[in-house]
Amino acid sequence: MRALLGGKGANLAEMARLRLPVPPGFTITTEVCTYYYDHDRRYPPSLRAEVSAALRRLEKALGRRFGDADDPLLVSVRSGARASMPGMMDTILNLGLNDTTVAGLIRASGNERFAYDSYRRFVQMYGDVVLGLKPESDRDPDPFDALLEAKKRARHVHNDVELTAEDLRELVTEFKALVRTRCGVEFPDDPEEQLWGAIGAVFGSWNNPRAVTYRKLYGIPGDWGTAVNVQAMVFGNLGSDCATGVAFTRDPASGERSLYGEFLLNAQGEDVVAGIRTPQRITLEASRQWAREQGIDESARARNAPALEEAMPQAYKQLVGICRTLERHYRDMQDLEFTIERGRLFMLQCRVGKRTGLAAVRIAADMVRERLIDERTALGRVEPDQLDQLLQPVFEPRAKEAAVREGRRLARGLAAGPGAATGRIVFSAGDAEQAAGRGEPVILTRIETSPEDIRGMSVANGILTARGGMTSHAALVARQMGKVCVAGCEALEIHYGKREMRVAGRTLNEGDWVSIDGTTGEVFLGRIETHPSEVMQVLLQRSLEPKHSKIYLAFADLMRWSDRHRRLRVRANADQPDQAALAVALGAEGIGLCRTEHMFFEGDRIDAVREMILAEDAAGRERALAKLQPMQQSDFVGIFRAMAGRPVTIRLLDPPLHEFLPHTDAELEALAAKIGGSVESLRTKRDAIREANPMLGHRGCRLGITFPEIYRMQVRAILEAACELTRSGEPVSAEIMIPLVGMVRELEALRRDATDVATQVMAAAGAKVKYSIGTMIEVPRAAITAGEIASQADFFSFGTNDLTQLTLGLSRDDAGKFLPDYVDRQILPHDPFAVLDVAGVGELIRFAVERGRKARPGLKVGICGEHGGEPESVGFCHRAGLDYVSCSPYRVPIARLAAARAALER
Ligand code: ADP
Ligand code: MG
Ligand code: MG
Repeated sequence: MRALLGGKGANLAEMARLRLPVPPGFTITTEVCTYYYDHDRRYPPSLRAEVSAALRRLEKALGRRFGDADDPLLVSVRSGARASMPGMMDTILNLGLNDTTVAGLIRASGNERFAYDSYRRFVQMYGDVVLGLKPESDRDPDPFDALLEAKKRARHVHNDVELTAEDLRELVTEFKALVRTRCGVEFPDDPEEQLWGAIGAVFGSWNNPRAVTYRKLYGIPGDWGTAVNVQAMVFGNLGSDCATGVAFTRDPASGERSLYGEFLLNAQGEDVVAGIRTPQRITLEASRQWAREQGIDESARARNAPALEEAMPQAYKQLVGICRTLERHYRDMQDLEFTIERGRLFMLQCRVGKRTGLAAVRIAADMVRERLIDERTALGRVEPDQLDQLLQPVFEPRAKEAAVREGRRLARGLAAGPGAATGRIVFSAGDAEQAAGRGEPVILTRIETSPEDIRGMSVANGILTARGGMTSHAALVARQMGKVCVAGCEALEIHYGKREMRVAGRTLNEGDWVSIDGTTGEVFLGRIETHPSEVMQVLLQRSLEPKHSKIYLAFADLMRWSDRHRRLRVRANADQPDQAALAVALGAEGIGLCRTEHMFFEGDRIDAVREMILAEDAAGRERALAKLQPMQQSDFVGIFRAMAGRPVTIRLLDPPLHEFLPHTDAELEALAAKIGGSVESLRTKRDAIREANPMLGHRGCRLGITFPEIYRMQVRAILEAACELTRSGEPVSAEIMIPLVGMVRELEALRRDATDVATQVMAAAGAKVKYSIGTMIEVPRAAITAGEIASQADFFSFGTNDLTQLTLGLSRDDAGKFLPDYVDRQILPHDPFAVLDVAGVGELIRFAVERGRKARPGLKVGICGEHGGEPESVGFCHRAGLDYVSCSPYRVPIARLAAARAALER
């Protein structure tokens, strides 16, 4: 009954129903909240009588009366929305205390210190939450805490538990005086008035700016409302046989199946979380481990900070039993709050516990094995993106914490390529290669990157850029390579000339050590220890046996179940044999996009490429291309071989030619010396090739139309490679993909050409190979005329990066300047380069799929843009009936899981 009772209220009632020890109470429903806002902040007429009646029942159950001078009933008033909204509302404890009832509490408990401790806590919480007595600014301390601190100083004590009853009584008086001066009201003594004040504050908090912002951020409807829970108090602050704590039924970081949590003796409420004293561990094992890490010896630990298991064995045993009951009931890991009053355990809250990606995978797989859930449910328990955490190298958590403590965090950019990397700063791709050649780890640090940086990027440990968004070149390549990348870190001021970078008031030079966390976007000064993830150690390096890695086994289970339930196939974008092998290890069923231009930057091929581009005529181009062909061919052989017969889609040359040309005069001179010709003529030619708007320029199939010999060379290289393998009995499935087609005539001409070449090659080789010719759909006109285009295409592959740019009329390299505003103001629901724009681009895709398949039944359709590895977009691809998605190798497991979840969705 979450909707009616809120999460907290529903779970409290549920625990009570399970006969767990829950202090009695009642819940004012969310409907009252809705009514309250619909009726000018008035309560439903019957509310007062109902609350009174509920309170009377509570009194009867406990044999204590609210406001009683001898043995008063005290309550907590707790908010609780349907969806958890942490930090939005506070809780008020010990409500019902005043100068009369506190005397009754002393008599009933025989503990004056406890009574005044409860009283001062009440005044403090009520003053804050109901009377709104807050710090004057963010930087000021809480005014109540300031008085508490002053009292501790005056008494020369460190801990609140060392304050005496007298000290605490004085604090109550001081707190009330503070309320009088700051709020201009007398602190209310009447318990009834206190109760309604608290109820009103909880309802009122539903619409405070903090809560409204939070709801907007997490898409929680404003009309859901909050419930109010009124619950009898139990006390963890009655003495050293009392405690309060929080626990998880399993370790929320590792997923290990062991109770995990912390508690404090003689404490109340949020003391544990607020960190007023160092909390103690719950299990003996965790306590010992904690002591080892802190360098505390065993006898000191047992004396000063024993585990709950030792300090209160009875309550501990009961807690373990309750954890089991709750997990069996909710069939998920639970996050618990509990209090122990004079050795008696009480449960105060339970809810589904938040967890890391590692823990999510472990817990889901373990629970299937324990028969708590089935595999479909398990797949629903892991967010696809959480798998990243299992694949990327990670910083040692403690080493990173230390770096933050030491003030070494320099800046924050976009978390563009998850994982952790440490290395020396280099400012150019060339320097990166040289340093890497010497075996030095480097972080390639650039204002932004371009295709010619590709080799430097591939040898760098990590990539850091000052500009560009999540789909900038750096981010794109980083994800494909599985590189750690922080992009668009605007705080960096990079001076290539001086080989230095300014950030956070410091100047860093080439060769200085930095560490970047591509999962969070943080940039650190100095080195932070990293290690490859356990799963990758098993998958690739085979330095770890599967049976020795619990996380690997859990991951493998999850992947097996994903594959069983998904319909979409998953391929990878990969340009090199080692990337292809990585993709296969991660479960890729083919290559959906092999970009041939990246091969042009290998070794000294670029010279031949430049010679080809700058050639005066077709004959000159043919000569240069003849040098390139064997190199491309050997690349294709490597990739086909790594894919062992799985389909490989190879895109013919796509980028505008000027991207390959030298920029500086020095480079031009070197080139002139190598290929002949004057520097002057080379420069003229280079300048002539420049375009005002290259994205809409001479690129893709337009190159194939004007320089047919380029595509012919590539097709020849592909087919000869395929024939070579076929002859040696190795399976090959080649798919030739022609980019940027907008008109059917383009495809028709290029297809004819390609088919001619293929026929020649096969005849000459005396072999027959399986190949097909298709096109990318990335120009809106191609999508609109998909019926015609399909007549010339064996397959479609949606290039959603360009399709998004061209459909929205947005350049992804420049959109970073204003796109964030569009998302903030909800003009667009997401960055359309990160999450597919379903309403616009998605409609074009659906239309093209329908028209294409009508014209050519059985037309194979996939997607190869960055969206192919983004879970929401994968869900769309499933629903739109695509055959496959293709994404960077490290996203393959994510896409597999996302595809399964989409298939199971209903
Ligand atoms: P939040 O929603 O911020 O977690 P809660 O309503 O859970 O706030 O209250 C915070 C803490 O106050 C609880 O974890 C518990 O320790 C304490 N608390 C709440 N109600 C009671 C109660 N009836 N008796 C004792 N402690 C309580
Ligand atoms: Mg709580
Ligand atoms: Mg494209």
